[in-house]
Amino acid sequence: MQQALLLNASYEPLKVVHWQKAITLWCQGKVEVIAVHDREVRAVSVTFKLPSVIRLLRFVKIKRRFDYVPFSRANIYARDHHTCQYCNRVSSTADLTFDHVVPVAQGGRKDWENIVTCCVGCNRLKGGRTPAEAGMKLLRPPRRPDSAPAIRITVGLRDAPESWRDYLYWNVELDDT
Ligand SMILES: [Zn+2]
Repeated sequence: MQQALLLNASYEPLKVVHWQKAITLWCQGKVEVIAVHDREVRAVSVTFKLPSVIRLLRFVKIKRRFDYVPFSRANIYARDHHTCQYCNRVSSTADLTFDHVVPVAQGGRKDWENIVTCCVGCNRLKGGRTPAEAGMKLLRPPRRPDSAPAIRITVGLRDAPESWRDYLYWNVELDDT
């Protein structure tokens, strides 16, 4: 696997690019490397690992089409651009969780309007309380996304490196045949 998954600044997958393209983008200062392949490549005097996931530093706006967006943890993260809806920090999937704005114990529902992306720290701080009770403020009221990305990528499940797994959702159709 000598390809890299190119993500938008929002962590949304844009396309799969050849490693040479990935290196070029990196040299141009357009992307940051999020993950690397295990395999090393030797250039003139340096050895480096090929990027497997790269992320654009500047957000590229993509025209979206209307579509049904399935309710899932990954899609909640995508809707909220991997940003904690309380402290506004962007995190990787590993550092994120989701928060019931109105706790389930207080009758909160499990739907688009009551679940937001939340960092582990804010989630702990908020505990089983409403934002008002916890003295925390939501960046914006959560709502159902009314559109899906225009881009769809099909990736063979067997070809997809482990490092891609966190990002393969939303607009990526896994082909596991
Ligand atoms: Zn937070």
